[in-house]
Amino acid sequence: MKLQLTSPLDMHLHLRQDDMLKVVAPLSSKSFSGGLIMPNTTPPITTKEQVINYKKEILSAINGDEFIPYMSLFFKNDYDYEFLKDIKDEILSIKLYPAGITTNSEGGVSSIDVDSLKPMLEAMSELEIPLCIHGETDGFVMDREAEFIPIYRALAKAFPKLKIIMEHITTKEAALAVEEFENLFATITLHHLYITLDDVAGGLLQPHLFCKPIAKRPEDKEALLNLALNANCKVMFGSDSAPHPRSAKEAPGCAAGVFTAPIALQALAELFERYDKLHNLQKFVSDNAVDIYGLKPLDKVVTLQKDEFIVPSSYENVVPFMANQKLSWTII
Ligand SMILES: [Zn+2]
Repeated sequence: MKLQLTSPLDMHLHLRQDDMLKVVAPLSSKSFSGGLIMPNTTPPITTKEQVINYKKEILSAINGDEFIPYMSLFFKNDYDYEFLKDIKDEILSIKLYPAGITTNSEGGVSSIDVDSLKPMLEAMSELEIPLCIHGETDGFVMDREAEFIPIYRALAKAFPKLKIIMEHITTKEAALAVEEFENLFATITLHHLYITLDDVAGGLLQPHLFCKPIAKRPEDKEALLNLALNANCKVMFGSDSAPHPRSAKEAPGCAAGVFTAPIALQALAELFERYDKLHNLQKFVSDNAVDIYGLKPLDKVVTLQKDEFIVPSSYENVVPFMANQKLSWTII
């Protein structure tokens, strides 16, 4: 049995820099026809020159593969209208991180409220630049996303023409909120459709499953599955694939991030098939994102075949999600 996916897209992807970029970028460009590249590099991507250079580095790392890196800019509250107008054609979105909430987000925004963000968000609204948000507060780790929902609501209401993407949602509260406003959308990762906190810390600690936002409760996972498997038009696939070297994961002070890019489509096919929803996978991994962002993706077809695939124990020095496990779909 074969499954063809037209222009699969990964709308939340960390490709990192330098040697790591060279290892992971070709793994994404093999499976996907494009991805939204996150700007939390060191230093973060905050200028047009950085956007252009980072894109060049990505294109050189993927070595001629058919893949569009859709670029994003690291949100700063003091970009002016002229700057945004000038950079608009080089980027697909601007990514807002609350300060210090995840990897390389120290330069993020410390007070997220309608009044202080008004000039920037009005400009983005007018220029039709979508806003992607890592929506977590600095509260108790299990409650951070749910506590952020009122901020999503306030922003969606105050800037109705601004497309706001709730990145990597993990809770039933977020799954409900995304349907409340026309201008709210969300990405859902692979790992949050597979795991709960029990898989991370219920037995021996599993550092390769440790990520931000942290995996939540079974009922949260169910709510995400309900949106994804039914290809709800408000959600799209964004892996949040976030590679770290093994030494940074298997360590005291384990870095947050799950590396899923090379196995994402295979594992999604397995999941959608298990729930008899394979017919919805095209929408979840491509069509919904095309509609939400108004993309014209490459005409690339990725074919999966029902064949055993043993997930490698590592890709160079990065351990993938489901390492050494058996999946029943492979990319041909
Ligand atoms: Zn991320």
